[in-house]
Amino acid sequence: MGHQTKCNAKDMQNEYSDCFGCRTFTGDVMLQHLSAEVFESLQETINKGKPLDPAIANSVADSMKDWALSQGCTHYTHWFQPLTGTTAEKHDAFLEPDNNGGAIAKFSGDMLIRGEPDASSFPSGGIRDTWEARGYTAWDATSPAFILPSEEGGTLCIPTAFVSWTGEALDKKAPLLRSIDIINKHAMRILDIFGSSKGVSRVNTTLGLEQEYFLVDEEFVARRPDLLICGRTLIGAAPPKGHQLDDHYFGKIPERVLAFMDDAEQQLCELGIPIKTRHNEVAPGQYEIAPTFENANVAADHQLLLMQILRVKAREHGFVCLLHEKPFAGVNGSGKHNNWSIATDTGKNLLDPGKEPQNNLQFLTFLCGVMRAVDLHADLLRASIATAANDHRLGANEAPPAIISMYFGEMLSDVLEQIESGESRDARKGGTLDIGSSTMPKLDRHSGDRNRTSPFAFTGNKFEFRAVGSSSSVAWPNTILNTIIAESLDYIATNLETSLAGSDSPEQRDTQVRKLLQEIVKEHRRIVFDGDNYSQEWHEEAEKRGLPNLRTTADALPILTNPASLELFERYGVLSARELTARCNVCLEQYCKHVQIEARTLVQMLSIQVLPASLRYQLELSQVVTSARETSIECSRTAGRLHDVANLTEALQEAIDTVASAEVFESEDTTLHANHTRDTLLPAMLFARTISDQLETLVAQDLWPLPSYTDMLFIR
Ligand code: ADP
Ligand code: MG
Repeated sequence: MGHQTKCNAKDMQNEYSDCFGCRTFTGDVMLQHLSAEVFESLQETINKGKPLDPAIANSVADSMKDWALSQGCTHYTHWFQPLTGTTAEKHDAFLEPDNNGGAIAKFSGDMLIRGEPDASSFPSGGIRDTWEARGYTAWDATSPAFILPSEEGGTLCIPTAFVSWTGEALDKKAPLLRSIDIINKHAMRILDIFGSSKGVSRVNTTLGLEQEYFLVDEEFVARRPDLLICGRTLIGAAPPKGHQLDDHYFGKIPERVLAFMDDAEQQLCELGIPIKTRHNEVAPGQYEIAPTFENANVAADHQLLLMQILRVKAREHGFVCLLHEKPFAGVNGSGKHNNWSIATDTGKNLLDPGKEPQNNLQFLTFLCGVMRAVDLHADLLRASIATAANDHRLGANEAPPAIISMYFGEMLSDVLEQIESGESRDARKGGTLDIGSSTMPKLDRHSGDRNRTSPFAFTGNKFEFRAVGSSSSVAWPNTILNTIIAESLDYIATNLETSLAGSDSPEQRDTQVRKLLQEIVKEHRRIVFDGDNYSQEWHEEAEKRGLPNLRTTADALPILTNPASLELFERYGVLSARELTARCNVCLEQYCKHVQIEARTLVQMLSIQVLPASLRYQLELSQVVTSARETSIECSRTAGRLHDVANLTEALQEAIDTVASAEVFESEDTTLHANHTRDTLLPAMLFARTISDQLETLVAQDLWPLPSYTDMLFIR
């Protein structure tokens, strides 16, 4: 089977490698369609970060077009990531009139390299006014173009960055690419210091993302305006069974769900997304999918594509895929574990501790660089994942808390102690694990246990940032992560370059490195916490250590526009002060708008669904009580229930009014609006919810207009 053939499930089993990436313009497909020189030149850009040679654009465009047409495509699109949080595309047909009554397929280098969507309808955070509509999409050759098939043909999608006429970033890709460039720059300086940059052209960040999601039957979603509009339930009484028994996690995957997963995975595989793992998650109805890690820019694009395909495929299987961070109150929420590392283009993972981490100074330098960055900028990291949706998760008793801390594990914590005290001893070893039965193999034990409660954990040879929300694009958190880490690598490199002043004695270098790392560990070790991050003691301890606890989005986002933050991003050329301020505005605006939409949906559901049902039930009860009293039948309990329902129904109406009047708040000042959302609107919504949820446990089921948590969470 060649790459030109469509794949099916059988091919996938038999010839996985042929099927993999058959819808992407990469690898073999490229080799087949490009001349050797053009291929080489493009590879230099993709793998080594060399500037794109504009002279090859026409030839690449021509080959892409031939390939796309041979795959049945009729259209192409520049695929980009505006600040809305999703992706955008505007399709153009390949065919153009030839002015002779016919049509020709046209796709030139210019059309590949640059597009010009109308930028005025995308959020810019004040960078541009609507009358300044010009915006450009620019080809990102380092992320493979791909084909999204449709019934009639398909669309060639070209990953692009989106910038304004002035060159200011209007999207999430441009800053991510800039942030990867500065990691490269400063990591290379460190490699130079250790004499290990030979043969290395580039240092990349690598990213592996674990995506959690819920599946709910389509028929239930159709009857829940909150799920349809907001992606989460705004009301709903707790089900009798949730995840108390821990019987869903890693449990048997239901047949229907498995069919959906197979189907989605096949398409993901065709798109070159290296899906590796799937399993049931903690909550009923919750699942996880995880690709193998890739270069960060590609991984971030693939992540957006993955979410899109999960949504579409779920529908085809009669489900709705909920990517929201907290679709069901009181039930485990969804995150996106962001596994992050740095690696050379020659394939060396710079966070691999090797056999003797205590003597691996290069590894320890990168490790301490990350530690310093996270401690200095924990608030920025918190801000990078701040959304209205993620607030429901962070700080609740099941997900990482809003306090950012790091987990290093026993072995590395011991190494840090050695660095700090200046002593040196062998690192703790894992040893072997004896299961106690003669027929069972002895297993190697890792040198440290895991800590599932830590928001930022070292997991063997990478860091796992666990506080990223399940629905968000990972480009933004990684832009911030890369920037703060690059700053620390720069600090370390500058310090060592100065203290070594050209000396190439390895002994002197090691002495200087140990000295610097000792300082860093002393100063920043407070960010390390290996205990239970959910505990109250940690909250108190963290406060003593002076670690920020930014509980909500409204608290966290303003950090972005601190003078220090603006200066940091500008200094490294990742975002100008104007660009960053604009981004902060967009995020604040989105926070307010999302909650406002939820509030409106809630008011509507309560007014025309919950309230009428409660009133009807109240009427039924009062009829029962009246007739019972007429016939002298004992009905004090029924009367008590009537009272309860009547009281709650009255309270509900008041609560609806409170939400409705809080929701109409307007202000030009987005910070003020965000504070109002946090302090007034969200509490009012929560209060209204508690009343509705009490009514749900009282009102007759045949009158209750909404599917219950039990209906939705247990797939049959
Ligand atoms: P777990 O979180 O259960 O330990 P794995 O160790 O299998 O799971 O890895 C989780 C994710 O981390 C996967 O997506 C994997 O590809 C990714 N990962 C592994 N190594 C790296 C690395 N060097 N850089 C980035 N991500 C990585
Ligand atoms: Mg994980």
